[in-house]
Amino acid sequence: MVNNGTGGPGVAAEEADAYRVLPGRADGGLIVLCDHAGNALPSEFGTLGLPPAQLSRHIAYDIGAAPITQALAAALGVPAVMTRYSRLLIDPNRGVDDPTLIMRLSDGAVIPGNRRIEERERSRRIDLYYRPYHEAIRRVTDQCLASGVAPALLSIHSFTESWKAIPRPWHVGILWDRDTRLAKPLLDSFYAEGGLIVGDNQPYSGQLVGDCLWQHGTQRGLANAIIEIRQDLIRDAAGQSVWARRLARLVAKILRDTAAKPAFNRPKTTEAPPGNLSATGAGSLDRRGGDDQDRQRSRDRAGSSGVPPPGPTSARAP
Ligand SMILES: [Zn+2]
Repeated sequence: MVNNGTGGPGVAAEEADAYRVLPGRADGGLIVLCDHAGNALPSEFGTLGLPPAQLSRHIAYDIGAAPITQALAAALGVPAVMTRYSRLLIDPNRGVDDPTLIMRLSDGAVIPGNRRIEERERSRRIDLYYRPYHEAIRRVTDQCLASGVAPALLSIHSFTESWKAIPRPWHVGILWDRDTRLAKPLLDSFYAEGGLIVGDNQPYSGQLVGDCLWQHGTQRGLANAIIEIRQDLIRDAAGQSVWARRLARLVAKILRDTAAKPAFNRPKTTEAPPGNLSATGAGSLDRRGGDDQDRQRSRDRAGSSGVPPPGPTSARAP
């Protein structure tokens, strides 16, 4: 723990091979995460056998997510943890036993360097590039908890503007699992912006056992949510700046509002099962248990532009 220059406890910057920690206040009530920040690969992997152009596509990383994470964390003065390497090497937003941890095929592209991976190579990538990131999140979380203010976890992602030739209408989506403490005020904030089509667990479901926020949020009882921003809105610096400023404004207000609510910055000791509205107090979120079909059902609300609910969605980020 370092002093952050304002007299409060701070999380120090750290540059590691597989991840970066951006410094910030340990008692700021928030940690920003970016699982798919980079499209780099360690030199021994070359391009994983892909034409270099494939590495600048969304299959390699979340376009626009890293600069927004940096700008948001800086604006709020809170720490962030970001990956450095491409999700094609290993996907930190998957459980370690997930079959898509190391993708052999992604959105039509075969990844030659992942085609025949033996258990030893899989374990090596987990040890070198997966665990260090998660251990960094755990350490930063511990430092924040030690300050006496439990951090909420906000993970920044981006999604493609179409999937299997079907346009995706949402400008932004909030993904969440069973904890509404951060998701609900985020959804309400984006609805109140006007002019935005906001996905509630769209274009993906946030209910994935083993993913990054399940590991660090759900399992530790910390408020958490994913923000997914459509990539065409944040492909260039101007769009990134607009969205980073918007997020900073909305999230800063949520942190101010929730500072008066101790439950927000206190780990939950018991987790309600998914869909148990009375236990979570989440009645307004139209949250239900049920099968996957139900979970994938469109729950977005049209903004002032009035675009109707979209067609089918994919269950997982590519
Ligand atoms: Zn992502």
